[in-house]
Amino acid sequence: MRICIIGAGLTGAVIARELSKTNKHEVIVYEERNVVGGQCYDIKKDNYYESQYGPHIFHTMYKDVWDYVNLFTTIKPYNHKVKTLYNKQLLDWPINTNTMKHFFGYDKTDNELINIINLEKKREEDDGKKIGNNFEDNALLMCGRTLYEALIKPYTKKMWDIEPNKLSSELCKRIPIKFDNNSSFFNDIYQGLPEKGYTNMIQNMLEGVKVEFNVQVNYGNVMYFMKSNDFIINTGNINNLFEDIELPYRKILFVEASKNAYGSTVLNVPEEKFSMIRYTDYANMYGAGISKGIYEIPQTSDYNTVPLYPYPFKEYEDKAMKMKKTLVKSKIYSIGRLGSYKYLNMDQSIGLALDFSKELIKSLI
Ligand SMILES: Cc1cc2nc3c(=O)[nH]c(=O)nc-3n(C[C@H](O)[C@H](O)[C@H](O)COP(=O)(O)OP(=O)(O)OC[C@H]3O[C@@H](n4cnc5c(N)ncnc54)[C@H](O)[C@@H]3O)c2cc1C
Repeated sequence: MRICIIGAGLTGAVIARELSKTNKHEVIVYEERNVVGGQCYDIKKDNYYESQYGPHIFHTMYKDVWDYVNLFTTIKPYNHKVKTLYNKQLLDWPINTNTMKHFFGYDKTDNELINIINLEKKREEDDGKKIGNNFEDNALLMCGRTLYEALIKPYTKKMWDIEPNKLSSELCKRIPIKFDNNSSFFNDIYQGLPEKGYTNMIQNMLEGVKVEFNVQVNYGNVMYFMKSNDFIINTGNINNLFEDIELPYRKILFVEASKNAYGSTVLNVPEEKFSMIRYTDYANMYGAGISKGIYEIPQTSDYNTVPLYPYPFKEYEDKAMKMKKTLVKSKIYSIGRLGSYKYLNMDQSIGLALDFSKELIKSLI
């Protein structure tokens, strides 16, 4: 079989690798940029790697995914910690008992803090808030109004430019509340940074695979690619394969920072008076002994930057599902963060790409 893959990001690289490995299929990857890596693309600076599309920390609880990435890179241990800037103070993020003490009193015991939060949560429950209704209801029932109004609501509004009560409650899964003083950002047992960066890791995945750069496959030319391939796997923006349907994406403007992240690797900036959403100090992240970073300003989708975040709306997810089904009729499978319009982490992108490859290989025997 001759198989064409659109996109040399993580999803495209994993699928290309798995299909090529069988030695039964001819695989070709078309990439619209002149580099591999997609949203994970990073470049080597003095003695650290700078992600070009936002901070990327590899974390997973799945051993099979962890073992898989370790085939292509050495992962250096890294325990991700984030601070949030509130009222000129640096607080732990995600919210833990240290963060709570700033709002409710440094003399409070953990039990007293839990009681305060439980009382606030009860007030929201009595007011009719329900888990699963929307992001705002869920968040209020997770941490109460004080912390929500100060740290979560303004950040969320800035990130999506949408009232949080219009966003999906699913988004709350990304905001754990910790009733202890653990300041690690992730709870996953496996986490770290690829010693030689993500671009190198993805290049290793693609070793021996034919990749053609500066080729954009889109609605206008996809028929041409279909003629010379048995089927197509799209990992790029699903919009590109339709003439008149467009799903919106949140974009980010990345700006070189003159300030650093005040000793933190990532510093969230929730307050609405600042346009940026966070600083990332990549040099510090790699332990380079210097401080050098980038800050991010969320942008509306008509801004001329790369699409990065699918909006967490059920309406758009349903629309993407329909678009995917339409493509299958033409033997085009659309997968990955932009291909399936899902807010996926790297481990999820890899896991889904591995499952997809396994099923496909089985069906082609
Ligand atoms: C700001 C930010 C921070 C993140 N941080 C983390 C993190 O800390 N940890 C984590 O686990 N995950 C993180 N992620 C998620 C991670 O980046 C994704 O899960 C992963 O990169 C998705 O890979 P992909 O191959 O599906 O998509 P992409 O990386 O988008 O790859 C798609 C590729 O297709 C190419 N392409 C697109 N359209 C076309 C076309 N028409 N023709 C040809 N080529 C095309 C693109 O150029 C790109 O190379 C983050 C994402 C963002 C945006």
